[in-house]
Amino acid sequence: MLTLNDYRPIVGDKIISEIYRLARDLYGAKVLHINSTYYGGGVAEMLYTLVPLLNDAGINADWRILRGSEDFFMITKKFHNALQGDHINLSEMKKDIYVRTNEDFSTYCEVDHDAVIVHDPQPLPLIRFYKKRQPWIWRCHVDLSHPNQELWHFLTDFILRYDAVIVSAEYYRKDDLPVEQKVVAPVIDPLTAKNKMLPHTLIHKMLKKNDIPTDKPLITQISRFDKWKDPVGVVEAFKLVRRKTDCRLVLCGSMAPDDPEGWDIYDSVKSKAKTLIESGDVILNTTEHNVLVNALQRSSAVIIQNSTREGFGLTVTEALWKGKPVVATNVGGIPLQIVDGESGFLVEPENSEQLAQRTLEILQHPEMGKHLGERGREDVRQKFLITRMVYDDLKLLRELIG
Ligand code: UDP
Repeated sequence: MLTLNDYRPIVGDKIISEIYRLARDLYGAKVLHINSTYYGGGVAEMLYTLVPLLNDAGINADWRILRGSEDFFMITKKFHNALQGDHINLSEMKKDIYVRTNEDFSTYCEVDHDAVIVHDPQPLPLIRFYKKRQPWIWRCHVDLSHPNQELWHFLTDFILRYDAVIVSAEYYRKDDLPVEQKVVAPVIDPLTAKNKMLPHTLIHKMLKKNDIPTDKPLITQISRFDKWKDPVGVVEAFKLVRRKTDCRLVLCGSMAPDDPEGWDIYDSVKSKAKTLIESGDVILNTTEHNVLVNALQRSSAVIIQNSTREGFGLTVTEALWKGKPVVATNVGGIPLQIVDGESGFLVEPENSEQLAQRTLEILQHPEMGKHLGERGREDVRQKFLITRMVYDDLKLLRELIG
């Protein structure tokens, strides 16, 4: 079990001692995190480390998963898309299933904690079904810059009951929401199987086991098969790059249980890249395996993140942490992580030509790619490692319950 002290060699002693100091006023406080999946996606990823480290600091941190039917997750996926700007047919039936699933869950999810932190839209209505005896915080990880107004209005009914809302970037704050809003950027854990150093032998073994040859430079996008990650656009860009230089594309995306659209998107990528898949130059992988993600990131010549919307983009953080050159779209939380031309390249979304051009530049000038990667890694060390989030969470808890 990792403890805060394990992070000393990476982040230094100062932040570790500040965390212990902040926690002093909160010893024994019971804090509950609720989200809707144990794996797949950035939220689960963060909670895996955040919860144990809060416990190590002296907090009684707990983590529960909202259970729901296939219909429920279909609806909340539509909500997720609409929060990021899609149209939605917001029928009474959808609202009813959404709210009722939360009500059902509340009947067997006892809450006697000192603070509750609810992640994303799925468990948002839960608050309505408890007699509130503690602060509740809604942690929204979604890109909120263009929410569908009808849905936003409906969700505001629940959001107003919260004591604070946390968003991932300054520009996600909502002026029309009279609830205290705070900005906390997401983070990665440098010591998990996904991010720690791997021996070369293990990297080769993982790639071999997953039929990923390394005879050509690898271009990789690691992301759920989700339309907002635009994997079809990645294939288009790859086709342009490949006209100029030989390389291979890997699209790696596991299927999260709260994301029912994955296989449809996968199929559209498959038909777009049919002949390249047959020749082995495009590889699609749907395995959920942290060591594979790590091995792939460490073996890639260029890492792409072609999102059209992106709450934050932990895959970008992970790639930068591995010192890799990243070409990513200038959307959502990505520009918080990449300074264009200094720690990676930013491109416009849905612009395969620009994506291809920057990718090619890196492939043709590996030294430049190396410099971009080194700067990116240092930025992540300063701003986006898990210890910073433990610190931010403790600060917030102190304000609310300290
Ligand atoms: N991820 C993974 N396997 C995959 C695809 C994604 O483990 O096949 C992880 C990825 O490494 C990252 C998280 O899921 O830690 C995705 O977080 P991000 O913020 O990039 O996007 P989200 O999925 O939350 O929209």
